Amino acid sequence: MLKIEHIGIAVKNIEASNQLFAKIFNASHYKTEVIASEGVNTSFFQVGENKIELLEATHTDSPIAKFIEKKGEGIHHIAFDVKDILSEMKRLEKEGFILLNKEPKLGADNKLVCFLHPKETNGVLIELCQERKE
Ligand code: ZN
Repeated sequence: MLKIEHIGIAVKNIEASNQLFAKIFNASHYKTEVIASEGVNTSFFQVGENKIELLEATHTDSPIAKFIEKKGEGIHHIAFDVKDILSEMKRLEKEGFILLNKEPKLGADNKLVCFLHPKETNGVLIELCQERKE
């Protein structure tokens, strides 16, 4: 893995949280994106070299709605940049980790992504992400 690509934070109300985090970072979010297939509305902040993704559920069946119901708002996942997502998925599966999706899927920000089941990772939801080549 190359570096932390971003940290995802689950929030109840993205409008309110955009304002909250803009105050904390002293900078506004630079984009928003709805990922309909995942039932999430996202916004992104750039903080120096780092990115923060806010995630709001778009419906009650969304994984974000379920996360907030169980654990409340807060850090939801850590995403790591990988060079070759297919080979990383293969490697981690061989190590016994459970991939939440068998094929890379299209995430926010034009990335191919795959999540590891947090049961096997000390409770940390890990997202692999690779820049999508056109
Ligand atoms: Zn993410």
